[in-house]
Amino acid sequence: MKADGFEVGSHGWSHLNLARCPLDEARREITQSRKLLARMLGAPPRSFAYPYGGREDIAPAVLDEIVDSGFEVVASAYSGANVGSIEPRNVLRTAVNDTIDGLTLRALVEDVALAALREAVVSRWSLHSTALSPQPLAGASRPESA
Ligand SMILES: [Zn+2]
Repeated sequence: MKADGFEVGSHGWSHLNLARCPLDEARREITQSRKLLARMLGAPPRSFAYPYGGREDIAPAVLDEIVDSGFEVVASAYSGANVGSIEPRNVLRTAVNDTIDGLTLRALVEDVALAALREAVVSRWSLHSTALSPQPLAGASRPESA
């Protein structure tokens, strides 16, 4: 996976909300997962994604613990796009699933309005607007409708 550009990071030891547990427990969650991943991967992980990760789930003292334990990149989960310079202590994560088509994913990543992106693609390639109706990503399964 590493050769394909994927990186394995930590998401904590037991998926506790680190802003709602005692700091020493949060520290244990962070360091135990880091040690296990380092042993499994042969090198310590660089990135940490908060379990939960909403604005209310991030505490400055916990962020300090994450950085002090050696993580270089920390990801929140309150959504947003990382456009321009990226704050390594707050990389924005956006949830995606198999119902999101490629154009919608691009709009999310680039923080542009989907309608404007669709219009630009239709115009650039002289397509009919129906050519860009949402399609699931290749290989994605979609539940049967009743
Ligand atoms: Zn999670």
